Amino acid sequence: MAEVKIRGISKAYSSGVPVLKGVDLDIHAGELFFLLGPSGCGKSTLLRILAGLVKPDTGSISFDGVDILSLPPEKRRAAMVFQNYALWPNMDVFENVAFGLRTAGVKGRELEDKVMEVLELVQLADFAKRSVPSLSGGQQQRIALARALAVDPALLLLDEPLSNLDARLRDAMRSEIRRICSLRNLTALYVTHDRQEALSMADRIGVMHHGLIREIDAPENLYNFPETRFCAEFLGDMNFLNGKISDGKISTAFGEFKLNGKNYPVCAAGIRPERIKIVEQDLPGSFEAILEERTFSGESCDWIFNANGERLAVRESAPAKRNTGGTYRLYFEPEFLLAVNSAELD
Ligand code: ADP
Ligand code: MG
Repeated sequence: MAEVKIRGISKAYSSGVPVLKGVDLDIHAGELFFLLGPSGCGKSTLLRILAGLVKPDTGSISFDGVDILSLPPEKRRAAMVFQNYALWPNMDVFENVAFGLRTAGVKGRELEDKVMEVLELVQLADFAKRSVPSLSGGQQQRIALARALAVDPALLLLDEPLSNLDARLRDAMRSEIRRICSLRNLTALYVTHDRQEALSMADRIGVMHHGLIREIDAPENLYNFPETRFCAEFLGDMNFLNGKISDGKISTAFGEFKLNGKNYPVCAAGIRPERIKIVEQDLPGSFEAILEERTFSGESCDWIFNANGERLAVRESAPAKRNTGGTYRLYFEPEFLLAVNSAELD
């Protein structure tokens, strides 16, 4: 495991359009760090630069204080797991996993021990002699992970590794990857566009947009207290309120409320649907609203309320029976009404 420092990394491919625009990032030793962002924002390009498959135009990268950009890929000890597994179909499982070790000159008993150790880690020790095409997608992805782990990487890179798996398998693999990373105390950089994956697995998340990391924090903080409208919307549903914002307050059709957050020059006020409660008592700060719509989804229900002309989405888990057209009282804790920076990101 290594401490990774990325400074001022920029890249434009031949078209000249900047894909990375001066990325700075520190990944702590032993951390599972997620880069989360929409397709095309530059995530894979940054991973390829770390792996040595693409050269950046500017910037520096070090592992434990040692510059790695001058090193060829095989000397960097950065191992990559790809979305499409990238296994060799003509080699058996053992040989796929052994490949990097053989290249590094490991052989005999030591080679066998190392390969079997990582195959045990991914729970496929009995599959060593199997051919790759005879395995399921999930098993192939585990072999790809074992192959990356076999070389004892300073940095493990994972590029949307679960995108080709079905939902049930994906859930199982999420906890599996987390278990392995923490067991081996790996430093890992995991790239995805899937917010559930990032929120459920990451130690920290960096949210990326147009070639820059815009916000970095632990999942709970980033979800509950995002600073930008982009990040707030990318991580989940949010009500943005209409009304005049000044002096850290918003005046809406259903009352005036204090905002939690900075006074941004271009500011929006947002609250997540699950933070609005349907209450019985007339709490200070509560307000009346008429129930207009419901969308039931099993464990929760999304209600649409109308509060004096303002439409509000409210998410209730273990939902009670409620009547559309009825009048209810809504309430939220003031800390969850956020001021976010809603200036257009460049
Ligand atoms: P992400 O992984 O976030 O989807 P990528 O890093 O793959 O983003 O791509 C970022 C941008 O760079 C996209 O617009 C993509 O089309 C472009 N791009 C990626 N690879 C190449 C390449 N080899 N040559 C030219 N353009 C590329
Ligand atoms: Mg990608």
